[in-house]
Amino acid sequence: MITLERVSKTYGSGGRAVQALEDIDLTVPKGTIHGVIGLSGAGKSTLIRCVNLLERPSAGRVFVDGQELTALDAAQLRQARHQCGMIFQHFNLLTNRSVYDNVALPLELMRESREAIRERVMPLLELTGLADKARQYPAELSGGQKQRVAIARALASRPKVLLCDEATSALDPQTTTSILSLLQEINQQLGLTILLITHEMEVVKSICHRVGLISDGRLVEEADVGDFFTAP
Ligand code: ADP
Ligand code: ADP
Repeated sequence: MITLERVSKTYGSGGRAVQALEDIDLTVPKGTIHGVIGLSGAGKSTLIRCVNLLERPSAGRVFVDGQELTALDAAQLRQARHQCGMIFQHFNLLTNRSVYDNVALPLELMRESREAIRERVMPLLELTGLADKARQYPAELSGGQKQRVAIARALASRPKVLLCDEATSALDPQTTTSILSLLQEINQQLGLTILLITHEMEVVKSICHRVGLISDGRLVEEADVGDFFTAP
């Protein structure tokens, strides 16, 4: 479902070059939740941004759902990105748009009709527990509710893959738990493949099937979650 083949990423050049990723090989099978953990600066954010090519790898190939994203031109890539929803630590909602209009945005960009948008947005608000918040604005919501809006928006284009970039790092423990349950529900009910990066072991322990450890731009260890946390 997601495959990275020998992906490397270098920022800058010459004496100031930083190698953020080095020869990353990663496979995330369809329908699984895969976590990548690592310290700050290890390359997690670069890694997840290389999946939908928000960052272009300096070398290597990226496949999502059998399609090689690294081989596409700009127009094809715009199309292919609909298969990857993404959520962020700080939610990245548009503050001047209501909850409904935030979730509708990707569909507007895809030029879907108003009726088609309504038929898509309302069930997503139900799924994320926001049906009664449709007309509110992000500033009126709690952190957990904002992340729910971001999740609904990420699902609007019917992606096959959800990329979560420190999605619970700005939330308190209780809210983290409720967002993780929602992600688990999305994985189970919609069959979505989820790749998440986090610096929190607990996140990985509670919902991931497999986990990788990234250190200095290299994936140094990978295992099923049960094995990963068993003391040697
Ligand atoms: P993490 O998400 O694990 O904290 P990042 O992927 O953000 O790690 O960063 C990996 C390395 O790449 C770090 O050394 C960081 O300073 C560097 N880096 C990240 N983004 C950029 C950028 N836009 N320009 C230059 N260096 C960057
Ligand atoms: P937070 O994520 O901020 O901690 P909750 O997860 O408790 O908040 O709920 C988020 C939103 O979903 C709230 O507006 C709440 O009213 C609504 N909500 C929670 N559970 C339900 C439910 N079973 N039916 C309808 N709305 C719900």
